[in-house]
Amino acid sequence: MGSLLLWSLPLPSWGLEPEAPTRIALRAARLFDGKRDKTLPDAVVLIEGSRIQAVGTGLPIPAGTRVLDLGDVTLLPGLIDAHSHLLLDLDAQSGDSLGPIFQQSTAERALLGAKLGREVLEAGVTTVRDLGNSGLNGDVALRNAIQRGWVQGPRILASTRALSPHGGQFPTLQSPAQPLIEQEYVTISGVEEARRAVRQAFADGADCIKVIVDNGHNVLSLEELKVIVEEAHRKKRSVAAHTTLDESIRVAVQAGVDSIEHGYSLPDDVVPLMVRKRTFLVPTDGPLEVCDSFDAKAGDVERQRKLKERCRRNLTRAQERLRRAVAAGIRVAAGSDMYLQLPGLTRGQASVRWFIAYAEAGLKPVDILRAATVNAAELLRMQDQLGSVEPNRLADLVAVEGDPLKDIHALKQVRFVMKDGQVVLDAAGPRKQVDAATR
Ligand SMILES: [Zn+2]
Repeated sequence: MGSLLLWSLPLPSWGLEPEAPTRIALRAARLFDGKRDKTLPDAVVLIEGSRIQAVGTGLPIPAGTRVLDLGDVTLLPGLIDAHSHLLLDLDAQSGDSLGPIFQQSTAERALLGAKLGREVLEAGVTTVRDLGNSGLNGDVALRNAIQRGWVQGPRILASTRALSPHGGQFPTLQSPAQPLIEQEYVTISGVEEARRAVRQAFADGADCIKVIVDNGHNVLSLEELKVIVEEAHRKKRSVAAHTTLDESIRVAVQAGVDSIEHGYSLPDDVVPLMVRKRTFLVPTDGPLEVCDSFDAKAGDVERQRKLKERCRRNLTRAQERLRRAVAAGIRVAAGSDMYLQLPGLTRGQASVRWFIAYAEAGLKPVDILRAATVNAAELLRMQDQLGSVEPNRLADLVAVEGDPLKDIHALKQVRFVMKDGQVVLDAAGPRKQVDAATR
């Protein structure tokens, strides 16, 4: 390290003037703005710096604006994944779900997150709510690295360690494993520990709170959950509740959490309560085709057949549950809960496949698009910034080939991604600069 004195000297400015914000106009054949259920034809979106200035059909483009003509594509708000795990990547075939968690340091997992984050961004997902299993606050480190421009990735709302009942999500581990559990979870017992854990999460840099309401052995109490919600809402932050049992979804909704993750059980008496309290459901079940990945060649044929059967049975049940929730008026925010390696797909492609799978439960394309844009933005309490293409929103935009309002599978054909007004992917390659003044 050099002399500290050096840093007290005034540094030369190198003659650089602060740059004026860039003005960009995006043209596209169609635009879905997140709100209307139709696309806008011949769309123009004017962007200055990181924000959208104006949106409309055939808007005049001011002189000095860089024009990007995207052609026969549909522009959409950047997609939002309300349930990601960017610091976790499990090999589904190995069957060892704890391996990476206990073998990789937080630093290693944050670097993995940098890779997966880029894949997510390139698939059109510009914001994620990352819900735990990130080691000791590795999600905060990754969020900050992306904010500082060290690596490219989606905007991250970090949760730090999930709050959970005793045992975390590994309740069968023996007591000596407690330090490993505490690396992933803050286990709480009693309302004051619950309050303390939320305050610790915010001190550690959390943007939201994830709570494991039950782990199959222990269930948090209504009183503990109420304190968690009260403390988080005092900071205007959302609470995501992982529930697997009737009794745990019931207390979570009663306590006023913002979203139920998975909703593996959805008893009839809880449905009207979720509608009344406007609790979001974040379904994370995935497409039926994933059951085919239990490949008979990989091992015991009979075991593979049983796994495949169980997978199809569970997913069919999940689709029925989602259908029932939507019919009753429960609002859906898109979340992938993706933490698996799926052969042939990047992390982002796999996550978007999970959104498309909502169609298998009967969701209309426009409802899926809203779940992954305006609804998710509202759940993240960022609807004034994200989720729709409107003046003053952040310029997070995605262009896909085709029309996803007609065929939701168009979401797989990403051609262009912009985050915060910066182009992060352009399938057309480097474009000739076209200035509106010279046209
Ligand atoms: Zn999860």
